[in-house]
Amino acid sequence: MLLQWFWVPLGALAVLALYQQVRIYQIHRESKKKEELFQIVTENAADMIALVDVKGRRLYNSPAYKRILGYSAAELGETSAFEQIHPDDRFRVLDAAREARETGTGKRLEYRIKHKDGSWRVLESVASTIRDAKGEVAKLVIVNRDITERKRAEEQLQHNLFHDPLTNLPNRRLFLDRLQSSFARARDAGRPYTLLLVNVDHFKVFNETMGTVAGDHVLLELSRRLATRLRQDETIARRESSGASPEAVLFRLGGDEFTILLDVVDDPSDALRVAKSIQAAVAEPFFVETREMRVSASIGIALSTVTHERPEDVLKDVDVAMRRAKALGGSRCEVLDEAMHTRAVGRLRLEADLRTALTERQFRVFYQPVVELASRRVVSFEALLRWEHPSQGLISPYRFIEAAEDTGILVSIGHWLLLQTCRQLRDWAAANFSAQPIHITVNVSARQLADARLVNDLQDALQQSGVDPALLQLEMTESVAAADPKLTVTVLSHLKHMGIGVILDDFGTGTTSLRGLRQFPVDALKIDRSLVREMQTDRATSDIVELIITLAHKMSLRVIAEGIETSRQLERLLELGCEFGQGYYFSQPLEAKAVQQFVRQQIGPARKSGAGAS
Ligand code: C2E
Ligand code: MG
Ligand code: MG
Repeated sequence: MLLQWFWVPLGALAVLALYQQVRIYQIHRESKKKEELFQIVTENAADMIALVDVKGRRLYNSPAYKRILGYSAAELGETSAFEQIHPDDRFRVLDAAREARETGTGKRLEYRIKHKDGSWRVLESVASTIRDAKGEVAKLVIVNRDITERKRAEEQLQHNLFHDPLTNLPNRRLFLDRLQSSFARARDAGRPYTLLLVNVDHFKVFNETMGTVAGDHVLLELSRRLATRLRQDETIARRESSGASPEAVLFRLGGDEFTILLDVVDDPSDALRVAKSIQAAVAEPFFVETREMRVSASIGIALSTVTHERPEDVLKDVDVAMRRAKALGGSRCEVLDEAMHTRAVGRLRLEADLRTALTERQFRVFYQPVVELASRRVVSFEALLRWEHPSQGLISPYRFIEAAEDTGILVSIGHWLLLQTCRQLRDWAAANFSAQPIHITVNVSARQLADARLVNDLQDALQQSGVDPALLQLEMTESVAAADPKLTVTVLSHLKHMGIGVILDDFGTGTTSLRGLRQFPVDALKIDRSLVREMQTDRATSDIVELIITLAHKMSLRVIAEGIETSRQLERLLELGCEFGQGYYFSQPLEAKAVQQFVRQQIGPARKSGAGAS
């Protein structure tokens, strides 16, 4: 019994011991299996896997290290991991390792490490911890992925976003960003800057005649020259030596337009000096397939000393200055100073007001009679635009036509005017106050002439009013007609086909050649009022007027003299054989409601009732 009692625990102990032996064996096998597994995984992994102790000493490096960093396991053993890491990244890596040890979990980390050949590879790594029997972190397993190529692709994409593909210069996007910074620094810290806008003169023509390949070649060469010139510029270097550490950055805005942002340069004469040096660089000859070519550039300059509210205003200013340089003949530099700035601001306000004027119906049409000089019979009226400004009263087209033309709003005003005059023609025909039908002539600008909507607008106005097209005539100045002769011929042929007459306005001041005159299918010439004015005092002018009249008659064109103010002018024009005329001598431009009465009355010298405009 006792024996029995004794044997039971002894047997249990033996079983227990055996069980423990089996368990140890199993654990050993499992961990051996795990080790094997670790071995298999790490030996074949594309990523670099490292095992380090808590002191950062290398215990194991997977074979991928050799492939990615060029070092064999033995070589790695001799090098310090810390020293292979990029100096700027070292402490971040150490921090991350410490954190992993302390918290037991590692963060994703990016850092650079040196390849055996000296180049840098970018790694993305994650650390995990292995704890010992006491539960303390004993080792770190670090998995490193080589993301160098991905990084390079990302950087390339980023670069492309901010650089121009042809010249590799920073592009408009980057420029706007930099301008914003310079603007903020000037405003907040009083650090000045200067902006130069460089635009190649007649580049469109160059591209069209030489082809875009030659055009690209010139732009590329130009970008190199400008960059070199800026690097060597003495004015900029001088500023640098004064401790101001300026920066001159060249951008390509697109097309033939470059900008240069000069930090710290705030003196107009310094800015001009830089611009002149840029122009000299542009002026050097280019060789396109052994042909020598030359181009020039117009440069606008805006200084931060002029007060601007937003960076966009600086851009507008520099554009105004550049356009001015172009308007003055190109190959020039223009600085936008306070006076020019004020003018530009006034112009912007005018443009905005013009838009309001159209929607608020502030435009009026006045009609100036054109008479047959011999009989004084009214044959037509010239429709003249007025702006009835709410605070400034009637404004002359001389003060707003150009701005309306530049912004394109004149096309819309022109459409409204055509509708208005055609309705007027219909009403006058219905009122039947004149023995002969009355015509109306309407002025068109260059932009209106080039706008495809003109013919449609005309058809629209004629259709809506049901007016005979023969009662409508268009006037355009010689320079408008000559701006694009091909286009003018096409549009005029259309008008002729529609039965609408055309008058060449302000004739004798422009540069129409005789051939041009033959080429344009016009019906009449209107002699410019400066010739009519000077005719009396200047013999040569009188001869010119006579010549124009003879020429017109030879070509079967009618002649109208404008700006007749005195009876002597009238008499002289009659002597020279001029048939038609208009001017204050007969009448000022009239309001529509005054026209009927005017036609009915005998025409004598002008009454004082006419309405002009300031
Ligand atoms: P324009 O077509 O040569 O028109 C004649 C201008 O001479 C008118 O000025 C008229 O008022 C003025 N005038 C008439 N008789 C005399 C005179 O005896 N002496 C003097 N010194 N001037 C006289 P306005 O109305 O101020 O128009 C100026 C210019 O504005 C016009 O010159 C025309 O080029 C343009 N314009 C006027 N209305 C329109 C329009 O509806 N569309 C376009 N595109 N341009 C217009
Ligand atoms: Mg006119
Ligand atoms: Mg005129």
